[in-house]
Amino acid sequence: ASGGADKIDYVFKIVLIGDSAVGKSQILARFARNDFSLDSKATIGVEFQTRTLVIQHKSVKAQIWDTAGQERYRAVTSAYYRGAVGAMLVYDITKRQTFDHIPRWLEELRGHADKNIVIILIGNKSDLENQRAVPTEDAKEFAQKEGLFFLETSALEATNVETAFMTVLTEIFNIVN
Ligand code: GDP
Ligand code: MG
Repeated sequence: ASGGADKIDYVFKIVLIGDSAVGKSQILARFARNDFSLDSKATIGVEFQTRTLVIQHKSVKAQIWDTAGQERYRAVTSAYYRGAVGAMLVYDITKRQTFDHIPRWLEELRGHADKNIVIILIGNKSDLENQRAVPTEDAKEFAQKEGLFFLETSALEATNVETAFMTVLTEIFNIVN
């Protein structure tokens, strides 16, 4: 093909991290393909998915990396973090333990990634309000203390998934422009 219609101005690598089963792969499926599956198998093989969107008249390709079932500390390799300009740190609002592990994931991230990386804390499965184990206030407070963006999402209901990615991508865009 020729012409400028498919010109990409920027490629931004974003990594998804957090405990197993918090919904990382479904958040990505929702964003990249507007898809969701209730019985998603443990992620195998696929390294990343992309979606191209327009920010302030520029074409931005988001390249989003998903862990291939290596969600134990230190199992995620430095290659995974290499070149990342954004990160989504995901926990499950119905599983307190997944939130309690966030400081460790953040430490991992800060140890491997660029110091200017844009990070958003995501409390996923907000549709399961009746099973909530992590108060919104606790997460908000933690995010504020650590200088992270914060949103609660539902990949199932497609709540805030788009907003979460746009928050990160727009912030990165503003940093490089
Ligand atoms: P990952 O291990 O972090 O990649 O988690 P998955 O994306 O594989 O999701 C784990 C399980 O949680 C699957 O059964 C999903 O269908 C389910 N799940 C993911 N996101 C949501 C959500 O927003 N709401 C609900 N109710 N279930 C979800
Ligand atoms: Mg997965």
